[in-house]
Amino acid sequence: MDKMLAAVFHKTKENGGGEIKLEQLEIPQITKNNEILIEVKACGICGTDLKILDGGHPANDNTILGHEFVGVVKELGSDIQDLKLGDKLVVDPNEKCGYCINCRRGLSNLCDFLATGTTFGIFQNGGFAKYCVLPRSAIFKLPNNIDMTSAALVEPLSCAVHCHNIADVKESDNVVIMGAGPMGLIIESVVRKHPIKQLILVEIDEWRIQKAYELGADQIINPTRQDIKKEIMELTNGKGADVIIDAVGISETLESALKIWAPGARLILFGQDFRAEAIIKPNDIVRYQRKIMGSYIGYAEDFLDAIELIANKIIDIDKVITHKIPLVELISTGFKLMKERKCVKIITKP
Ligand SMILES: [Zn+2]
Ligand SMILES: [Zn+2]
Repeated sequence: MDKMLAAVFHKTKENGGGEIKLEQLEIPQITKNNEILIEVKACGICGTDLKILDGGHPANDNTILGHEFVGVVKELGSDIQDLKLGDKLVVDPNEKCGYCINCRRGLSNLCDFLATGTTFGIFQNGGFAKYCVLPRSAIFKLPNNIDMTSAALVEPLSCAVHCHNIADVKESDNVVIMGAGPMGLIIESVVRKHPIKQLILVEIDEWRIQKAYELGADQIINPTRQDIKKEIMELTNGKGADVIIDAVGISETLESALKIWAPGARLILFGQDFRAEAIIKPNDIVRYQRKIMGSYIGYAEDFLDAIELIANKIIDIDKVITHKIPLVELISTGFKLMKERKCVKIITKP
């Protein structure tokens, strides 16, 4: 039996975290008629991968990680009629059931099935490997002209597109993004593609601040040496932010957001940290008709939009790809750079 290199998560810590190891595994085989054997071409490293090792995000023991990946059809189950060998594919790691009440109401990102822990690359084998077997329902076909390295960012871009749609951004809006980590920067690229009054980022890391300027931020506030409220009020003539996207999700960023939101503002909570807490005064929402909304992954249509944006180069997603490395360097180079925060998106290739 042929073998392949794969990065496998082993749960070794009390808090559910553990370590990731590069191992030689047997190439997986199709066992159901609706499955596809994918030859992986590229897989992005996500902050969630590091969180898993620290115990900050649940994952299944003995699972191949990597949930931002693309590949080509290597073999097809007998039920699959609409794909052929060699077709380019992107994986929606959050496979939807299609029949639960949320799927049927058009809220497929809230599919009941997701809550059972099914994500490919977290709870089931994913893309840090040469091959992966997936059901047809977890796959979107890609256009032939798409660059496969860029396409590895379809999944995170779909989340950014979803977030931008929820924020309902208008031309007259002052938009603030909290955090210029990989997702903050991808959201920045989406927001920047639309006419707005002003785009302001809030970030503490100097390297990321530079990157946020490169991607088109008008202003960046560093709260370690600047007062967020004072700066935002000055930049907006005392009005405050019309749209705030919290791409961090800790108590401090939410508390800051509540100090700078304009009357009528939309506050979108995107970053996730289950430990975060904040006190909110209901009257601040009622009296000033503000909105607070969560943005969680995306709908199928956001995936389709992200594919279009990358394939037609409407968004130059390559600007957020700072490193391309072979899978064998996933831990020695990839995870090391992630921990040092000297990167935005790193794409691995088997
Ligand atoms: Zn991710
Ligand atoms: Zn469902």
